[in-house]
Amino acid sequence: MIFGKKKFFFFLVIILVSLLFYFLGRKQTDVYPMQYNAQISRMEDSILVEKVLTGQDGTETRKIALTFDDGPHPYYTEQLLDGLKERNVCATFFVTGEHAELYPEIITRMEEEGHLIGNHTYSHMQLKSGSLEAFKEELVKTNEIISGITGEEVLFVRPPYGTWEKSLEAELNMFPVLWTIDPLDWCSSNADGITRKVLSKAKENSIILMHDSYPSTVTAALRVVDELQKQGYEFVTVDEILFD
Ligand code: ZN
Repeated sequence: MIFGKKKFFFFLVIILVSLLFYFLGRKQTDVYPMQYNAQISRMEDSILVEKVLTGQDGTETRKIALTFDDGPHPYYTEQLLDGLKERNVCATFFVTGEHAELYPEIITRMEEEGHLIGNHTYSHMQLKSGSLEAFKEELVKTNEIISGITGEEVLFVRPPYGTWEKSLEAELNMFPVLWTIDPLDWCSSNADGITRKVLSKAKENSIILMHDSYPSTVTAALRVVDELQKQGYEFVTVDEILFD
C-alpha cells in the first residue's frame, strides 16, 4: 500500500511536470508572434523617427532642391559653392558641355563637395531648334565631358527651355529633371525680389530653378537657404526628391 502510494505520487509528479512543460511550450509559441510584432513596430517607429525628426530642434524636416543651370561660371559658381559649403548644403548643377570643358576644376570641386552634376546639352541647344539627332549628339558629348572629369556616369538632364523627347530616356539611360519654381533670376538683378519669389512658392519637394551666372542669383540663393533652413527644410540633390 505504501509502495502503491509512492508510485501514485511518482506518476502524479511526472504528469504535473509534463503538463508544466506542455503549457510552457505552448506559452512560448503563443507569445513569439507578439514579441515579433512588437519588434517590427519598434523598427518602423525608429525608421519613422529617423525620416521625420531630423531637424535640429526635433521638428519635421521637409526636403527641397536647389538647381543651377548654364554654368559653371568662372567667378559666380565658385562664390556660390563657397556659400553652400558654409551652410552644409548640396545642390544640383546642370552644366553645359561647353562650360564644363572651359572650367573642369569647378566641375571637380562640385563633385568633391557632394553636389549632383547633370547635363544641360553642349551648347544650350533647344530641341525644337534642331534635329533630334543633333540634340542627342550634344547630350552624349556632354556626358562624356562630365564623366571624363568626375569619373561618374551622368544620369540626369535638364533640357534647355524644358523641351524634351521621351524616347531619349531609354535610349540614353537618362532622366529629365524639370522644375516647380522658376523665379526668372536670369532677367532680374534684384536679389530681394528673386528671394521673395522663391520663398513665396517654396514647399516640400519643390525643385527650384536658378542660374549660377549672376551675382544676384548667388545672393538670393544663399538667402533662400538661410531662410528655409530656419523653417526646417533640408536641401537635397534632385535624385533624393525624385526617387525617395
Ligand atoms: Zn539653361
